[in-house]
Amino acid sequence: MFKSGFINIIGNPNVGKSTLMNELVGEKLSIITSKAQTTRHRIMGIVNGENYQMIFSDTPGIVKPVYRLHENMMRFVRTAISDADIILYVTDTVETRDKHEHYITRLSKIKTPIVVAINKSDLSDPAKLEQLAGEWKELLPEAEIMHVSALRKQNTAKLFDKLLEKLPEGPVYYPDDPLTDRPERFFVSEIVREKILLNYQKEIPYSCEVVIDSFKESEDMIRINAIINVLRESQKGIVIGHKGEMLKKTGTQARMDIERFLGKKVFLGLKVKVEPEWRNNDRTLKRFGYI
Ligand code: GDP
Ligand code: MG
Repeated sequence: MFKSGFINIIGNPNVGKSTLMNELVGEKLSIITSKAQTTRHRIMGIVNGENYQMIFSDTPGIVKPVYRLHENMMRFVRTAISDADIILYVTDTVETRDKHEHYITRLSKIKTPIVVAINKSDLSDPAKLEQLAGEWKELLPEAEIMHVSALRKQNTAKLFDKLLEKLPEGPVYYPDDPLTDRPERFFVSEIVREKILLNYQKEIPYSCEVVIDSFKESEDMIRINAIINVLRESQKGIVIGHKGEMLKKTGTQARMDIERFLGKKVFLGLKVKVEPEWRNNDRTLKRFGYI
């Protein structure tokens, strides 16, 4: 019997969804930072076994829809609940219970198998873990409850086995043995965005959108030109920095990670462009891949 299916990872920001998915898939696919909203898109990672195919997707953390961008992010979360074969609900040992209410009402109504992973077990003790597991069993009696530490790789293999056990019989959805359904250029733009999150303050990271303008591979290197779209002229100045220093630093950090990711020498050209209101404009959002 061949087993396959979509395992959708959901949960609040910062509980370790991306870290856990990367650990389960065994490759750095999603970018991981301590700032919320890093994962804006659904990202898929595919694990192929001899008689199974597991398709993981990582979703953005839940946020209150402030901009059109956020509404579209929330749509990803809703679809993630409705199109899953298994829902991997991630929480951690520090989150308070009230943070879950909007999810629990939704999750308790569906028939899809749910696995609750209580992450960051390394920050807790056995008694607390047992107490948390008990609380979750009360909230979702049908769900499988497990504690893991994605960071320390504790219990993650056991979690993987549990997911495999729950995987339904199914076809090979992605026959070409790809690691992911996203093109390489998507990961390149995510890496650039990760460095922007690291290097700039306040609203700057959330005002930037990275678009890959060209991606040309030759024998010994890959030439990539990317555009950082910002909302205002003043932000353009900040992103570029005094004598271009900030942009240079961001570009160098990104290039090094991209080289590691693609396993090849990379030339990375970064340009900053003002694209007013990209967050509220459906056409721009579509072009950026949000809808
Ligand atoms: P996401 O927003 O749910 O995708 O969370 P991330 O995967 O981006 O992780 C958020 C933060 O939690 C990062 O700083 C991670 O290093 C940290 N983190 C993730 N898993 C663990 C874990 O098992 N233990 C500890 N102590 N920290 C973790
Ligand atoms: Mg994430």
